[in-house]
Parts: sequence; C-alpha cells; structure tokens
Amino acid sequence: MIYLDNNATTKVDRDVLERMNFFHSEAYGNPNAVHHMGIKAENAMEDSRKKIAELLKSKPEEIYFTSCATESINWALRSSVLNRKGKNKVVTTGIEHKAVLDTLRDLKNLYNIEIATVKPDSDGVVSFEKLIEEIDEDTFFVSLMAANNITGAIQPYEEMGNYLENKEILFHIDAVQAIGKLDFNVERARCDFASFSGHKFHGPKGVGLLYAKKGVPIRPVVTGGGQERGMRSGTQNVPGIVGTALALQKSFESLYDDSQRVNDYKIRIIEEIESLGGIVNGSPEKTVVNTINASFTGIKGEVIVNALSEQGVYVGISSACSTLGGEGDYVLNAMNISDEKISGSFRISMSRYTTDEEIDEFIEILRNVVSFLNF
Ligand code: PLP
Repeated sequence: MIYLDNNATTKVDRDVLERMNFFHSEAYGNPNAVHHMGIKAENAMEDSRKKIAELLKSKPEEIYFTSCATESINWALRSSVLNRKGKNKVVTTGIEHKAVLDTLRDLKNLYNIEIATVKPDSDGVVSFEKLIEEIDEDTFFVSLMAANNITGAIQPYEEMGNYLENKEILFHIDAVQAIGKLDFNVERARCDFASFSGHKFHGPKGVGLLYAKKGVPIRPVVTGGGQERGMRSGTQNVPGIVGTALALQKSFESLYDDSQRVNDYKIRIIEEIESLGGIVNGSPEKTVVNTINASFTGIKGEVIVNALSEQGVYVGISSACSTLGGEGDYVLNAMNISDEKISGSFRISMSRYTTDEEIDEFIEILRNVVSFLNF
C-alpha cells in the first residue's frame, strides 16, 4: 500500500497513538471534574495548550480546542460577522475550502453582507495586489488560506498580515494545509485568527484548533456547559488534544529535515508525469513540497485514481463530477484550466512518512497505468 493522499488526511503517528491510548484507557477523567482523575486530565490538556501556543508563537489563552478546522473556521467567521460594527464587506478568495466559502454564503444570506471572492492567477496563487484592490473602508474581515489543499499553491498570507496589521480589519488564516509544510506561526503571520486540524499533521481526527488573538472580539457559537473559558462548550477531547499537541511538536521538529527529501520526490514525480505526456496544474515552485496536481489529457482523473487504487496506490481526485468524493474542481476552474484538464486531474500528496522505495514503486506503477490507459 502506498498512501499519497495526505492532504485529505494523514496516518496517526505511533507516539501520538500511544500517548492518546493512555488518556483513553488510564487517565480518562473529565477535565472539568474536581477529583484527582479530572485534575490529571485537565493538567494534561493545559500542558498541551501551552505546548501548542509555544509552537505557534501565541499565548495559551489564545488557543481554543474545537472538533475540527471546519468548526474553527465557522466560529471565526460567524462570530466576526455578528460582532461587525457598521462595516459590511468580507474579502476572500475563490479557492478557499468550502468550510470558508459555504459559511460565507450562508452568512451573506442571513445578514446581507457583501463578499468579494478574488480569483487566483493560472499558477493557483491569488495575487496580493488583487486582494488589496478589493479591501475598502467597508471591509471588516479578510479570510485567506496559507496553502491550497487541491494544488498546494502558497498564498500571500504574510504580505496580507503585514498589510492589515494596523488596520481595523480582522484577518483569518486557514492554516490547515500549512503545518508540516510551511514554517508557520501566528507571530510572523500577524493574523487575528488561524484555524488548524489535527488529522492533517499526523494527529487524530476530531480535534481542531482556533487561534484567536487576545483582545480580538469573539463570541461563543457552541453554547452549553461553558468549557474553554465559556467560549466553546462541550467536554474537551483530552486524548485527542494531547495527541494533537505531540503531533504538532513532531511536525515542527521534522519540518526542515523532511522538506528537502519530500521536495526531491516532488521533482522526480513531476519529471515522470511530464515524460509520460502529463501536465502539472499550477506552478510547482509556488507550491508546498508535498503536493502535485496533474492531468493526463484524454484520461479521466477518476479512472487514474481507480487504476492506481487497484495497484494499492492511493491518490486524491479534484473533480466534483466524480463519485469518489472529489470537491476541488472550482479551484482549478478559477485558475482558468480547461474542462478537459480538470476532469483529468488528480492529486498526489506526500507526507514525511513517504519513503524512497514508495516513490520508486509509485513511479513504476504510474508508468504502467498511464501506458495501459493510453491504449
Ligand atoms: N481547510 C482546508 C484548506 C482543508 O484542506 C480542510 C480539509 O480538507 C479544511 C479546511 C477542513 O478541515 P476538517 O475537515 O478537518 O474540518
């Protein structure tokens, strides 16, 4: 089995799993209980919050635990729209994840706010200049992803952070695809909010993080028992939180060691795709090291994905017309890529666990699959 669909989800790191097991089966107290087991769980949770804050260069009280990045994004967006004072416009891009785009569409219907969605260039990057052209006196919120999940294209979030720093405009970064790929921290990104998802960096599913800068207006969206200092109710997922903190730490520790190796794989795979007559969607030099989006004209993406899957190789698909759950055709469409290339597109996304042997084998299998499908 060769797993190359890491932008969809990643395997849980072994040490993370071990640490989580302890909090599932031994120290499983409710972190809000006052007895010893509860206190032990609470201490582990607060240590995790501290660790996460340190890695992201924030303060512990600026980190909130949620159930996934989709929830974190909903929270930042919905809360900021409810808190807006007089201003009515949100600026974002046409290539954000649906967690951003569909939430904004809902908010537009509910509150009649104006949404400007800026398109990317053909390289998959939304130009900073085009974004600031849309920012005006009525703008109260900007949402920009750090790296796109379908193409891997890195967006100008640092320039945007600098630009917005002294303006009365809230800045949210969808940093889900940044961890383990970019040297991301909220201090350098100068954002007000950032959203993360544990399962994208070898942590468990079911844990999201929201960074909300101290002093930034935020209101609870999930109400109830008053956990997370009254801001996000619901018993915290202590095993998941402890695991996510360790996964984040390991991702930061291995970033530089693994990036060069994974980038070498990316170069090899791209050379192979091109020698087989395929094309890469976007500009490889502007993407994170682990991601390649490619098309073979005349072969449907889902056919390649199925044929590779038959051989035990798992890659992702981006076309929505597929029954395989792909949902990224709007990203490629916004890049003005032809319909034929979009329907032929597929996504390879590696991780730090991807090995030389897997890439050798993958290239061999891809060669065979493409030459078979070309007949
Ligand atoms: N944002 C981006 C860029 C993503 O890639 C994803 C997941 O694919 C999400 C948000 C949502 O993450 P989750 O499904 O963990 O809520």
